[in-house]
Amino acid sequence: MSTDVPGETKPRRRCAKCGGDVRFSHREYAGKGMSAAVLRCAGCGDVIRDTARESAPVPQRHTSKRHRDLDAGPPANPVIDPEIAARLLESTRDSG
Ligand SMILES: [Zn+2]
Repeated sequence: MSTDVPGETKPRRRCAKCGGDVRFSHREYAGKGMSAAVLRCAGCGDVIRDTARESAPVPQRHTSKRHRDLDAGPPANPVIDPEIAARLLESTRDSG
């Protein structure tokens, strides 16, 4: 059984005390919009706090660029000229 994980990009961290595997436990709020990952050693149970970093907002899966394009609306919107609209309204009023 291979232990290699092809998709693994993060370097494996080892416990400084026992050299055991450290695993991500939870995320701790570090103030000023920062959060630090808390890791726990699987060997001795030592808790290691990662360096606090700015907690990024939830990544959006859909691209906002396309959304903006839709938001802008069609470039050429066929809108009846207000003058023509007024004349049309007048003609209908005349016939009515
Ligand atoms: Zn340890």
